[in-house]
Amino acid sequence: MNRAMTDHYPRADGARVLADLNALRSIGTYKTGVHKPTFSEPHMRSLAWLAERLPDAKLSATIDGIGNVLGTSAKSGPKLLAGSHLESQNFAGWLDGPLGVVYALEAARVINSDPGINGAVEVAAWCDEEGHFGNFLGSRSYVGALTEAEIDAARDRNSERTMRDALSQVGLAGQPRVTAERGRHIGYLEAHIEQGEVLESDDLKIGVVTSIVGIWQYRITFTGEQNHAGTTRMAIRKDAGLALARFCLAIDDSFPALCGPRTVWTTGRITLDPGAPSIIPGRAEMLFQMRDSDPTVIARLEQQLARMAEEVTVQGRCSVTVEKIRTGAPAMMDPRFQDAIEAASAARANGKSIRMPSGAGHDAQILATIMPAGMLFVPSIGGISHHWSENTADADIVTGAEVFVDTCRRLLSG
Ligand SMILES: [Zn+2]
Repeated sequence: MNRAMTDHYPRADGARVLADLNALRSIGTYKTGVHKPTFSEPHMRSLAWLAERLPDAKLSATIDGIGNVLGTSAKSGPKLLAGSHLESQNFAGWLDGPLGVVYALEAARVINSDPGINGAVEVAAWCDEEGHFGNFLGSRSYVGALTEAEIDAARDRNSERTMRDALSQVGLAGQPRVTAERGRHIGYLEAHIEQGEVLESDDLKIGVVTSIVGIWQYRITFTGEQNHAGTTRMAIRKDAGLALARFCLAIDDSFPALCGPRTVWTTGRITLDPGAPSIIPGRAEMLFQMRDSDPTVIARLEQQLARMAEEVTVQGRCSVTVEKIRTGAPAMMDPRFQDAIEAASAARANGKSIRMPSGAGHDAQILATIMPAGMLFVPSIGGISHHWSENTADADIVTGAEVFVDTCRRLLSG
């Protein structure tokens, strides 16, 4: 297709996209970012803001019983589902979530009223992607992977308010939950800020996501002997805390030779028991997480953890157990979606795109369990996210919107 023909296609309205994102930032503003925990007043006002705008995109709006906003089209032809989320982490950035929702809204506005394009973009804002109450509750509800019992058990991690109380306080209790109509959509497309610095450091404009990393989590427990910190000689101590600290360092020493190029690992919490200044810890526990898009790398690192635990136990002072508490297989993004994003980047972003895995979790990994899914990233200034200073240059936001709309058009035209 020649350039003149490409440019004939309807394009995103960059000024409208920026105005919408700023309108969402003005709800629940915190410094240059926002504070919109799930089911807070500003979060609910943001959902209402979206629902009010969906008719402009020829979509009828529903806010369902889990807090998902869904825009449904009556246009004939193929349907592409697109979206992201509207709540934020506490005191966090203005683009994490809203960027993908506003791009989806813009694509729907441009495409759904164009009689020259067969099919429509439908819009979704998934509730609680940021995990205030649980783990991808909104998108998991939509794909049919969330039970009523799980909702019964869900609590706000900041306030202990139950999910049921929150749903009734915002008027959603008793509303039906909408689940995916199998076969309705050709797939799901989501845009997001990169939350890293790969794009910025290589002066690239679009990340074509190849996969969303899996997350594996472990509880590693050290058992020694609790004793008096003043009278127990160093030579005979069985200090579980010290064994844990050595273990952490040994991970950092040995993993680099075994890991993949993008593997990351984190000890996120350490607990010493009983945790008093005058008592040698008899028990110590660490929560350890690894992320990679290749399960064979994780398997290799798991073997290393087991070997290290064995060594500590053989040395005799303390025993170690490694217990896997979370397995997250990586979600592969659909190759046809990757090709469409790349082609759209060639047309609208001077080809400044790169294929890359996502190191963060996104709703697209949940949607990918029932339909083809794709994701694109725009640059994050300084790689900063989950902080109120998170930002992306306006020009990059506009370029991303252009690529997103063009990707939707390409996917719908097969
Ligand atoms: Zn997000």
